[in-house]
Amino acid sequence: MLHIPFNNQYATLGQSFFTETMPSPVAKPKLIKFNDDLAESLGISTTDLDANDLADFFAGNRIADGSVPLAMAYAGHQFGNFVPQLGDGRAILLGEVLSPDGDNFDVQLKGSGPTVYSRNGDGRAALGPVLREYLVSEAMAALGVPTTRALAAVTTGEEVVRERLLPGGVITRVARSFIRVGTFEYFAARGDLDAVRKLADYVIVHNYPHLSDADNPYAALFQTVVDQQAALIAKWMQFGFIHGVMNTDNMSIAGETIDYGPCAFMDEYEHNKVFSSIDRNGRYAYNNQPAIGLWNLTRLAECMAPLFNPDEDTAVEIAKDILTTYQHSYEQHWLVNMRAKCGLSSDIDNAIAGDDKVLIESLLDIMAHNHADFTLTFSYLSQLMGEFLEQNSKQDSVLNNLFDNVTQLNNWLNKWQVRLSHDSISTEQRQANMQAVNPVYIPRNHQVEAAIRAAEDQNDFSVFHDLLEVLQNPYDQQEGNDKFRLPPRADEIVYQTFCGT
Ligand code: AMP
Ligand code: MG
Repeated sequence: MLHIPFNNQYATLGQSFFTETMPSPVAKPKLIKFNDDLAESLGISTTDLDANDLADFFAGNRIADGSVPLAMAYAGHQFGNFVPQLGDGRAILLGEVLSPDGDNFDVQLKGSGPTVYSRNGDGRAALGPVLREYLVSEAMAALGVPTTRALAAVTTGEEVVRERLLPGGVITRVARSFIRVGTFEYFAARGDLDAVRKLADYVIVHNYPHLSDADNPYAALFQTVVDQQAALIAKWMQFGFIHGVMNTDNMSIAGETIDYGPCAFMDEYEHNKVFSSIDRNGRYAYNNQPAIGLWNLTRLAECMAPLFNPDEDTAVEIAKDILTTYQHSYEQHWLVNMRAKCGLSSDIDNAIAGDDKVLIESLLDIMAHNHADFTLTFSYLSQLMGEFLEQNSKQDSVLNNLFDNVTQLNNWLNKWQVRLSHDSISTEQRQANMQAVNPVYIPRNHQVEAAIRAAEDQNDFSVFHDLLEVLQNPYDQQEGNDKFRLPPRADEIVYQTFCGT
């Protein structure tokens, strides 16, 4: 029997927040993967169920006891343009779970058939994007980036019509909340302040119960969302992750990475890297992500401000004061993260620490100039610490091979050495610290693509499983898994990613 400890609250908010919708059954569901560890942490038990039973449940053909399936309403700014009604067009919330640790999580099927919010879409997902979301979201979790998780993936035995016919899939994903900035926009745009308040109250109870004691709980909620978003985007930057569609409907109120579409980790470092085929103006380019975060939070401020104070001017002042904390908060997180990547301590004399930002940015500049691989540069830099240890030499380092102009690299390494000498920490300890934050393995595009190709073209899921396995331990060098570490060969490079809708 499938037991999911549902504790549904969203369904009590009222009809304007959602539409109850059953998933549409699929022809021949087949289980690709069930995330046992995640299930266990959520208190989900699957006693006596085989793969076929799980496939039925996680395709939406059977519904677990206690589930109240519904599609959530939301709006959103897509590429800067407001769309008053989006909503779950291909996703269905099965319900909320209260985990054994006392945390709330939402469990949702994606690709489970049409809803009233589907507009012209079919409510389905192609297998490729399902596998991509599974791999990338689980890799993010293992890297330590706040993210929705993947609980299950199935093939449907049906085809979906895209540019061509593609096999269909359903992913079950788990979030601390599926409420988005766009959910607040949905009600604010309708002038329904009571609903905005109800939503904010729900978010406080569901995700941030400690805030209910704050002097101004709604302002405290907004401040928390701002802080979490600044921290989240600093994490993305730390790993070279590009979300690709940071529309307000794709920004979670719980500070998690959500809605994996045309996302990608970059190989060669480029300041303004874009992968998404639909991001023609680079609105969501790598370096633009921090600024877009603030833009989205400003939209949220516009929705929430009336809750901060009955006096409009005071409310706007409060909103502005909170928004101004974002930039500093982001920069602090970025500096702490990037220092750690470079093995620099953060508790150091201001006179020395003051130049760290310049030092780090100059590394990024020469990486860009030399088309150096982002992940490997930092990973090899951590390894180099070992070479300093062993032979006090940086000659013939693998790091050199990443740079066309080795003089630029060596100049930087010399400055780095001088800076390192100010930290009173052993080289061994520094190396351990660096290796704990600089991954060996990330879900590289060409590897994700290879997993999708094998599954779609040959019905071979072994590539997906192998890659997923490697990505579970991204910081440990794994015997025999070097191919997952390396950047693509010229013929393997993925230049563009697609939404897959
Ligand atoms: P996304 O770009 O995935 O964030 O989706 C934006 C909006 O389009 C959301 O309201 C989705 O539910 C909806 N949508 C995307 N793909 C489909 C689809 N295949 N069928 C129905 N709605 C979709
Ligand atoms: Mg979305």
